[in-house]
Amino acid sequence: MSTTQLHPTIDDLITQIGEAGERICDIDASEAGAGNISVFVGWDIELRRHFPVSEEIELPSPAPALAGGTILATGSGRRLRQLGQEPLAAIGAVRVHDDGITATLYTSPFRRFQRLTSEFNSHLAVHQDQVASRGIDFQAIVHAQPPHLTLLSHVPAYQSTELMNRAILRWEPETIVSLSQGIGVLDFMVPGSAELEDANVAGLREHEIVLWSKHGTMSRSDISVYRAVDRVEYAETGAHYEYMNLMIGGVAEGLKRNEINAVANAFAIESPWLEA
Ligand SMILES: [Zn+2]
Repeated sequence: MSTTQLHPTIDDLITQIGEAGERICDIDASEAGAGNISVFVGWDIELRRHFPVSEEIELPSPAPALAGGTILATGSGRRLRQLGQEPLAAIGAVRVHDDGITATLYTSPFRRFQRLTSEFNSHLAVHQDQVASRGIDFQAIVHAQPPHLTLLSHVPAYQSTELMNRAILRWEPETIVSLSQGIGVLDFMVPGSAELEDANVAGLREHEIVLWSKHGTMSRSDISVYRAVDRVEYAETGAHYEYMNLMIGGVAEGLKRNEINAVANAFAIESPWLEA
C-alpha cells in the first residue's frame, strides 16, 4: 500500500471541517461568526472540482515552508454552525506559490465571504512554524471561544499557565492522558495583532492548545481536525468543572496530585504537570 492512500481526500477534509464547525457550536464555543478552522496539506490535492474560481492574493506574512502546499481555511464572518450544511460557501483553498509570499485563493461559485478569516495570519504563522521546524505534511488548527475557559481567564486566580492547569487537569482522570502537556495561557492581546501571532506560535510549540486570555483558544493536531477540536473539549470540560465547583463554594476535592500521578503512571504518560 502506498502512503498516499492514507491521505484524506479533499472531500474527507471538507467533511471534517464541516463537522468540526458544528461540534464547536454544539459546545457553545462559537457564537455567530466567531471561531475559525484551517487545515494545511503538504501533498498535491485536487482543488478545481470544488473550488473553480481563482484569484491571486498576497499572504499576510511569508510562509516559505508551505510553498507548493495548500491551506483550507474558513471565511471571515461565516457561521461555524452552518459549516456542515454549506461547507463550500464558507471554505477557501489557498495554494502557496514557490516564493512563499503570494498564493492563489480557490473558491466555490457558492462562496459567501469576502476575505478569509481575520485570524488567518495566526493560522498561517503556526502552519509555517510547525512545518518548518517539524517537517509535518498535515496540520489542523481550530480557533474557538469556549466560555468557561474564557471566563476563568478573566479571573486573576487563574491568570497563568501554572494556575490554569492546576485548576482544569484535576476533574477527570483522562484529562492528564488526553491533554498531558496542558494548556498554555497567553496574556490578553489584540485579536489579529502581530504580538498575538508571535506569542501564539511560541505557545503552540509547547502545547497543543493555548488560551488567548479574555478571548478563546487555538488548538492544533497533526492527525485530524477532530483531534484539534478534542483539545478544546478536554480543556473546556475541565474549566466547566472548575466553574461548577466555584458555584458550590469550592467544596469539591478534585483529583489529588498523587491520584493524577497514579493515572499518568498507569498509562505511561509524561507530563510537566506531575509530581516529581
Ligand atoms: Zn476569536
